[in-house]
Amino acid sequence: MPDDLIRSIPLIERYSRHNEAEDERFRIYLKGHLNLSTKKLDAIVQETTDRVWKQIDCTTCANCCRTMQVIVDNDDIKRLAARSNMTVKDFTERYVSRSEDNSTCFSSSPCPFLGEDNRCTVYEDRPKACKDFPYLYEEHFTSRSWMMMDNTALCPIVFNVWQDLKLRFKPRRRR
Ligand code: SF4
Ligand code: SF4
Repeated sequence: MPDDLIRSIPLIERYSRHNEAEDERFRIYLKGHLNLSTKKLDAIVQETTDRVWKQIDCTTCANCCRTMQVIVDNDDIKRLAARSNMTVKDFTERYVSRSEDNSTCFSSSPCPFLGEDNRCTVYEDRPKACKDFPYLYEEHFTSRSWMMMDNTALCPIVFNVWQDLKLRFKPRRRR
């Protein structure tokens, strides 16, 4: 069945750049002026995410794995080192570094564990940050609205959920 979702990354980047000012106004509106409880908005975001995600195949995209700097914590490193039959020290030397804000992250991008078929080669043991991305099922959507705006330009799921929210809640201009 045809749908109106946009999946092309170049198109999404272009729209996101073009809509930057409008998106910022909408972000401020959602955060401060929408007459809806946090709980209700979170539920709407989650239902919308369910619907959008069912129609987007991440293995045809993998843009997050290709472009983002993946944050890893000590548990992630221990788990992945064990899976790779490496010591934590060797794994860290080979795959981990510090980002500009001093977080611990994979040292290379695209992610070294992204397979040629766009699938994650360590899927069951992937970092928590990968499991949680794109953070649309977490509570308090509006508290992460800055990050959401950044992610609209790189993730088709976030982009299409954001467009849906704009259509649903965008304040109408008075005549
Ligand atoms: S989570 Fe978003 S960016 Fe990552 S593969 Fe899926 S659609 Fe693409
Ligand atoms: S660990 Fe897997 S899910 Fe996470 S960025 Fe790398 S390839 Fe993607």
